[in-house]
Amino acid sequence: MASVIPLTDLRTVSTVDTREAFVRAAAQHTAPAADAPPVDTRGRLLHDLRISVTDRCNFRCVYCMPKDVYGRDFPFLPHTALLTFEEIARVAGIFVQLGVRKIRLTGGEPLLRRNLERLVGMLAAHGGVDLTLTTNGALLAKKARALRDAGLARVTVSLDALDDPTFRAMNDVDFPVARVLEGIDAAQAAGLGPIKINAVIKRGMNEHAIVPLARHFRDSGHIVRFIEYMDVGHTNGWRMDHVVPAAEIVAAIDDEFPLDPVDPNYTGEVAQRWRYRDNGHEIGVIASVTQAFCRDCTRVRLATDGKLYTCLFADAGYDLRALLREPYSDAQIANAITAIWQRRADRYSEIRTANTPKPSRIEMSYIGG
Ligand code: SAM
Ligand code: SF4
Ligand code: SF4
Repeated sequence: MASVIPLTDLRTVSTVDTREAFVRAAAQHTAPAADAPPVDTRGRLLHDLRISVTDRCNFRCVYCMPKDVYGRDFPFLPHTALLTFEEIARVAGIFVQLGVRKIRLTGGEPLLRRNLERLVGMLAAHGGVDLTLTTNGALLAKKARALRDAGLARVTVSLDALDDPTFRAMNDVDFPVARVLEGIDAAQAAGLGPIKINAVIKRGMNEHAIVPLARHFRDSGHIVRFIEYMDVGHTNGWRMDHVVPAAEIVAAIDDEFPLDPVDPNYTGEVAQRWRYRDNGHEIGVIASVTQAFCRDCTRVRLATDGKLYTCLFADAGYDLRALLREPYSDAQIANAITAIWQRRADRYSEIRTANTPKPSRIEMSYIGG
């Protein structure tokens, strides 16, 4: 174990300057930081954990992993850098003890991680957690039943258009819509509902797909969520004028199918909810650019290699893998996570402008969407 940094209390920990030293110092602070769930500097609880299980993907969505960057030679993480299922399950259990009640598996494309259902089973065993997964749907028809049997509660499937030319252009690997729809049907049949359908809307690419997506899923029981195109990472060439504001998305749908607003299910819910006036079914919009929701953000992200990020737009993470691979106890790792959360002040989307500089921003496929 690394040398012990003497501490009197966690305020002293906050003065340790590098993130690695901070994590180790906090872990070695033997007294639990607090009995109550940790709260960050802006009064936010730690409620949702997103776990990226792979940084690889079988799609090359233009807004996430553009082909010219993620080509044949792209240096994806080697297998040894990835957290093992045992490591993920252990750290997830610690998060649950600290108050996390929602875990989402993501990536990259999570269904590319071999035997993912084994991890699902290990996480489901923690109990008391809403366990979900976000996928592009390509392998879902094959995997839905095993995931459900292992204890997965629900899935979110990404689908940016219903017309083949647009969808194939957006995933950029010529993948057809029909196979994603098969995956959605298989998930429904396996009991992984209510299913959410995520559609990222990028100006000039798929705003014409908004109303057809709404129409197609209106009576299906699946909840479509339209997502504003975000400036995650620095490879996707994001520009503010590529963003289709949520208000414009809602207006386009409302024109054809009148909508009423719905109250959030819980504080911190990402999507604003709307209901069709005629059939009562729901849609959501995720206005992360035009109406930031940092104030209620209770999410933390565990990247593929075990780095912990307190914001999607963070420029650095905290290395939990180092603790997991050295003889630190669960209580010590809990202390480190608590201290990390207690110093969290992130509110990137609230202070973003079109010209916000991007120092060394982390890519979505690695940090986990
Ligand atoms: N591969 C899986 C998928 O596509 O569903 C899971 C990972 S993906 C990074 C998670 C979600 O992030 C997807 O719904 C995707 O559409 C969304 N996403 C990726 N890049 C985005 C961006 N620049 N802005 C908004 N959403 C984005
Ligand atoms: Fe892959 Fe999902 Fe990113 Fe598309 S959005 S490239 S499917 S990780
Ligand atoms: Fe949360 Fe960061 Fe997104 Fe704000 S910008 S909602 S703090 S992840």
